[in-house]
Amino acid sequence: MEKTAIDEAPNEPNPLGVNSVRRALSDALGTEDVSLAFYELEPGEQFSGGFHTHHDQEEIFYVVDGTATFEVGPAPAADAETDPSDTAEVEVAAGEVVRFPPGQFQCGRNETDEPVRGLAIGAPGAQHDWDALESYAPCGECGEVTSHGVREPDEHGVMQVYCNECGEELF
Ligand SMILES: [Zn+2]
Repeated sequence: MEKTAIDEAPNEPNPLGVNSVRRALSDALGTEDVSLAFYELEPGEQFSGGFHTHHDQEEIFYVVDGTATFEVGPAPAADAETDPSDTAEVEVAAGEVVRFPPGQFQCGRNETDEPVRGLAIGAPGAQHDWDALESYAPCGECGEVTSHGVREPDEHGVMQVYCNECGEELF
């Protein structure tokens, strides 16, 4: 058995600086088959570095306090190309849960003036595979928003985000 107070779990904010409180409950509990993190988002902060999907994990968010706003891409289709820029905004309020399957792009933000607190659950696997993370971001070389891949953070915690079209690195 492992038990922890959420406040005592290691604080591992997103390396891109988009949030300040991300309690790594997976690490504190030593989970193997599920990723679990508690977020406290100040106004303007977001859960993830950007509009992204995990091709190897489904993700569930449980909003405990406040209201999160998710930008959501189309449901992934096995037999057709989907257009990730075809997005909708979905509000998830305290007491609600939302689930994204592998391959569905999303980014959740706090667009209110009040804090948002919530749990993020990913499975399978306590750690996602960085190779299976895909994000959409503007590429200076291509001059448009393109699909980007991510390399695992280096020893300084800096992750490399690169354009899947031309290879240009975002930072
Ligand atoms: Zn590019």
